[in-house]
Amino acid sequence: MSAIEESAARTGAAAVAERLEALIGREQVSEDYVRARIDLMRAQRKALDKLSAAPADAGLGKRGNGEPNGDAATHPGAAEPLVAEDALHLDQALLAALLADFRSAVEEHGGQSEDLKRLSAAASAESGLLEQLTRKSAFGPNWQYLEATAERIAVAAEALLFFGRTLAAPFLAAAAGASACWGVPFAGGPGAASTCRACGSPPGLAMLRRDDGKRVLFCSLCGTSWMFPRVKCVSCGNHERETHGLLRISEGDARWIETCDKCKNYIKTIDERRLPLGEEVLPLVEDTGTLHLDMLAEREGFARKLPYAAPW
Ligand SMILES: [Zn+2]
Ligand SMILES: [Zn+2]
Repeated sequence: MSAIEESAARTGAAAVAERLEALIGREQVSEDYVRARIDLMRAQRKALDKLSAAPADAGLGKRGNGEPNGDAATHPGAAEPLVAEDALHLDQALLAALLADFRSAVEEHGGQSEDLKRLSAAASAESGLLEQLTRKSAFGPNWQYLEATAERIAVAAEALLFFGRTLAAPFLAAAAGASACWGVPFAGGPGAASTCRACGSPPGLAMLRRDDGKRVLFCSLCGTSWMFPRVKCVSCGNHERETHGLLRISEGDARWIETCDKCKNYIKTIDERRLPLGEEVLPLVEDTGTLHLDMLAEREGFARKLPYAAPW
């Protein structure tokens, strides 16, 4: 098997579902929540498979012909993401099918499905709504649009953002070619951008790599990963060590929160060196298993920029 095939097998839908299922029974983890995330991930993967099977020139909105793992080392701070907002093609039927899958996942696992019910009703009545929501959530995000829509269709803006980004993720991943390059982080220098070079999103999770302890960031939307300096806020770029903080449940934990006093943002961090040998970090699994860390950060007055929406 080639490195790419191996990476694909490790991160295939069945492998990720299995890893997610293994979270059930852990302290602080809700079984219903895990099962809902498994179903959301499966729905996203189904859409991603359809998109990946489409002809290469199906208007996926790639900027130029560059692959995301191209000459990253020579352009560590490249400002323009590969996937252009205005060029990203969003298939209406596929979006509607995804939303229907999300709704059954949430309903089946006892989640709060009122917001999804209202969103589905609004989407059936108003053509173009899902596409707009997906686009405005994936890029920016555009809070003005989200708040106005939230008020108009009586769905919480945070819920719109989460579902908008979860809908967008397969399209962005397909456009960025992220499923193929997952696990091979871009190089990053001192000037590395804090946003994903493929889709422009902020990171959803940080990892300290087993081999050398270096910091790898994972995109919250498309699954691309990249190297990033250790002492630098992933949100505002602040590198004053004394304004960086750390929150964790107990000293020996492999997972904690890193905070920035300047921008009040935080990122969940996993130290791969503290995991058993052979246990590999899968960002979606980590994010799902650490809701209690998000709560801890929020209690301390920090906020995460965007929810984790990538399907692995
Ligand atoms: Zn991305
Ligand atoms: Zn900051």
